[in-house]
Amino acid sequence: MTTQQPTKWRRLRACPACDMVSAIPVLRPGQHASCPRCGHVLARRYLHPVQRSIALAASALITLLIAVAFPFIRVDAGGLDNQIALSQTASTLLQSHQPIVAFIVACTAIVLPGLYLTGVIAMQANVLRTVPKAYSDVIARLFSQLHPWMMADVFIVAALISLVKLTGMADVHLGASFWAYCVFALLLLMTTRSVDIDWLWYRLAGEPETPEDIRCGITAAEQHVTGCPTCGLINHLASHPDNEGHHASCIRCGTLLHARKPHSLQFTWALLLTAIILYIPANAYPMMITTALGQSHAATIIGGMMELWQHGSQPIAVVIFVASVLVPILKMLVLILLSWLVKHPGPLNALQKTRLYHLTEFVGRWSMVDVFVVAIMVALIQSGNLMSVLPGPAALAFCAVVITTMLAAMAFDPRLLWDTQGKQYD
Ligand SMILES: [Zn+2]
Ligand SMILES: [Zn+2]
Repeated sequence: MTTQQPTKWRRLRACPACDMVSAIPVLRPGQHASCPRCGHVLARRYLHPVQRSIALAASALITLLIAVAFPFIRVDAGGLDNQIALSQTASTLLQSHQPIVAFIVACTAIVLPGLYLTGVIAMQANVLRTVPKAYSDVIARLFSQLHPWMMADVFIVAALISLVKLTGMADVHLGASFWAYCVFALLLLMTTRSVDIDWLWYRLAGEPETPEDIRCGITAAEQHVTGCPTCGLINHLASHPDNEGHHASCIRCGTLLHARKPHSLQFTWALLLTAIILYIPANAYPMMITTALGQSHAATIIGGMMELWQHGSQPIAVVIFVASVLVPILKMLVLILLSWLVKHPGPLNALQKTRLYHLTEFVGRWSMVDVFVVAIMVALIQSGNLMSVLPGPAALAFCAVVITTMLAAMAFDPRLLWDTQGKQYD
């Protein structure tokens, strides 16, 4: 990336993580361009991107259909013989009077990935047929929002944990659907990586000429411009007729633009506070209530973990500890620290703070693993008085903790971390 190029054909992008403007060079398939200041990937190129995305998304959708149609797990323990389909993990929760948890499990494990893949196929087909505007812009706008909420990989880990939890007391058999779901999770990951939003918008709506007065190597905010969060195009903030110098609409995709996410810190603090309050019932109440031969036994997150440890499943206990205790607490602490550091520059530099932020964004969704374990166990162990598992009140509270911390990370604008000390890096 250079700072001295003829201006007319420059493709400029403002980094969404640190706001520095860079010129993107012509990329060959397999190459990517990243921000020289913080390393954030700005654009990727693939060979035959449209065909590649359609092939991956179609294969993923087929494996998802197979995973939904066939038995997922079967459990067999003298007198208790039960086999469940993937969708029953959500429907049994619904019958157990946990409609919100059921809805979240169904959405994150099946519905949202299915919608995303259908969207990818529809939009890439539009690109192939050069029908640029048949809902493509709406779908493309949803893409970036959907990514963190698709949790097929987390669901597989939860299925494996349930398997280990049950091996001591029953024969557990993985059905065809489980293997199909594993392939689906891999294909879903490959599909999300195959979609290059930057290139897609170029194909959908072209690239307007870059204004000549914008310079590389300094932040967009200093030049009264901003990168569109949806399509990446740099827009003037002050040139729009109905704005007061702070916001405008993107000239390419129509997204409302702001120099920084509006009220970012207030939203982050409010969501973090909600998560901290919800974390108390999530740990105080039982996560899962097991009834065996007329005797009920309720286990909290910590209690369930201790039992696993005592019964010789130390590795699983460690996984549950990391996902359900360590990650949520660390994520809340890191977001509190980062929100505080926006106003009070501390010992960390902006690059270290940005890395910390991306790490919390990446690991946050893995906390859902314990909620999925509850969903699978509840669906699997349903045999009247002999043995049954019910979700406890903590399942909903913990689900809400994971979602509010994820929303808090999304509300936080990482560019604020650079605003206080950005000039030191130029
Ligand atoms: Zn950057
Ligand atoms: Zn845009």
